[in-house]
Formats: sequence, C-alpha cells, structure tokens
Amino acid sequence: MSAIDSLPPLREVIATHQLSARKSLGQNFLLDLNLTAKIARQAGDLTGCDVLEIGPGPGGLTRGLLAEGARRVLAVEKDSRCLPALQEIADAYPGRFEVINGDALEIDPLEYLTPPIRIAANLPYNVGTELLVRWLTPKEWPPFWESLTLMFQREVAERIVAQPGSKAYGRLAILAQWRAEARIVLSLPPGAFTPPPKVSSAVVHLDALPEPRFPADAAILSRVVAAAFNQRRKMLRASLKGISPDIEAHLTAAGIPPTERAEQVSLEAFCALARELAKA
Ligand code: SAM
Repeated sequence: MSAIDSLPPLREVIATHQLSARKSLGQNFLLDLNLTAKIARQAGDLTGCDVLEIGPGPGGLTRGLLAEGARRVLAVEKDSRCLPALQEIADAYPGRFEVINGDALEIDPLEYLTPPIRIAANLPYNVGTELLVRWLTPKEWPPFWESLTLMFQREVAERIVAQPGSKAYGRLAILAQWRAEARIVLSLPPGAFTPPPKVSSAVVHLDALPEPRFPADAAILSRVVAAAFNQRRKMLRASLKGISPDIEAHLTAAGIPPTERAEQVSLEAFCALARELAKA
C-alpha cells in the first residue's frame, strides 16, 4: 500500500502494465507518491475545483491531485499503453477521474470541464512550452483556468520568471508575467524521475491575474516579443523592422529608444509598443 491511497505503488503499476518509458513521448515518470502529492499541493486548494492534467502517464501526479481533494480530474494522455493503469485510478475514485486518449495539442478539453478550473502537468518540455503560450495568449482575459502548476526543465522555469537585463529574460517571461503571477515553487533533481533526465527540473505555479498588468492586444504583443527576442542581440529598430515600416517612430512614441536591445525593455514598455502598433 502506498501512503496516499489504496492503489498499488507506481513501480508495481509500471511493471504490471509494462510501461517502459518512451523517449519519443518525453516519458520521465515520477514514482514517489509523496512527491506527487507535494506537487499537487502547490496547485492550491483543489477541493471544489476541476483539474485538467496533461500527460498523466502511469498516474502518479493524478493520484496526488485526487488525494489532495480535487473535485474531478480530467486527463489527456497520448500514450494508449497508459489507459489500463489509469482505469484502475478511475475505479478507485468513482466519478472523479476521466481520461481522454489523444494529443493535448489537438484536443480542446474545455467542454468537459466546469469552473473553477486549475491545470497541473508534468509534460515533455516542448509540449509544455507550447501549451503554456497558448494558455497565456487567448484574445480575452481572464482565461478558463485559475492557475497553472507545471513541471519544466529548470532552465525553462527560470525563463518564465526572469527579469529584464538577465539572459533568461524573453518571450516566456513577458507573456507569463503580463497576465499572471508566476513563481518557481519546487526544484527537482534528475534523480526524482524514472528514468532520470539529463537536467534538473522545477515546478512553476502561475495564478491568472484578474486583468493583464498593462493593456495590450495579445496577438500584437506576442508577435512583437517573438521578433524582438528572436534576434535579441540586435537593436530593436533592426529586429522589429519586419513588424512595421515605421518601427522607429512607434518605438519612440512608446518611450523606447530605437537603439535599445530587447533584453533591456520592460514588460510595461513592450505593452506600450503593442498599443502604439495597434493604432497604426
Ligand atoms: N505525469 C506523469 C508523471 O509525472 O509521472 C508522466 C510524465 S511524463 C514527463 C509526460 C507524459 O506526457 C507521458 O505520459 C507522455 O506519454 C505524455 N505526453 C507526451 N506528449 C503528449 C501530448 N502531446 N499530449 C498528451 N500527453 C502527452
């Protein structure tokens, strides 16, 4: 018996269902249920919330989320080999756990969820970054979710919480801090996972702000910061040339010297530039 529920230990689940980790699906499993419960606690008070989990794998984090009192967990898992193991969790928590077998980048799970909704995931890095950007850039705000609790490579986590002037500062920092309060809540060494990845990981928790810190159009801001940081060593008048033929005038109107580099520009100034461009 494990400490948090009456289901078998995860090593046993993996052996029973022959869930050898697949590199192509970014499978590095968390098998310590005390650790998964700790990660679930970082997601805040789950009682009365639907939780969307992406990539449950053998279900370690899922079990943490359920044991921590989530009203309901809806999980999207690409690897159909995991379904029998996840069915055992559904049986142990009747009516509280459902799985959709598919690609989280293609499925819209909103119709299956009832607010308030929190999102929690331990996902492959590229899928996690792509989903994070999607969750942060809907046209309207506030979004469908109240919080995101996501595992990333440590280096990516640092990019999300980075401040201007640092090497890690870029598109992820701007988009995350524009509309959310983001912080690193847990650091995990490679040995916390089976198999261990090459690098350390960290859990980032983001609370959606009731409204963005500064007004701006999400699509314009995304386009501007993508271009600005794509060529981060160049002056903005050069890196943003493709955004508008009058970029120097727009930068000046937004209070940004055209010779400035992206790394030095605050979130507030990027939002001002997005507003100037929206007027054009
Ligand atoms: N949550 C489990 C844990 O913590 O042990 C598994 C984590 S493992 C890092 C990532 C999981 O995401 C795997 O189960 C993998 O099959 C799944 N996955 C990978 N790409 C996915 C995608 N595009 N959509 C849904 N699940 C995906």
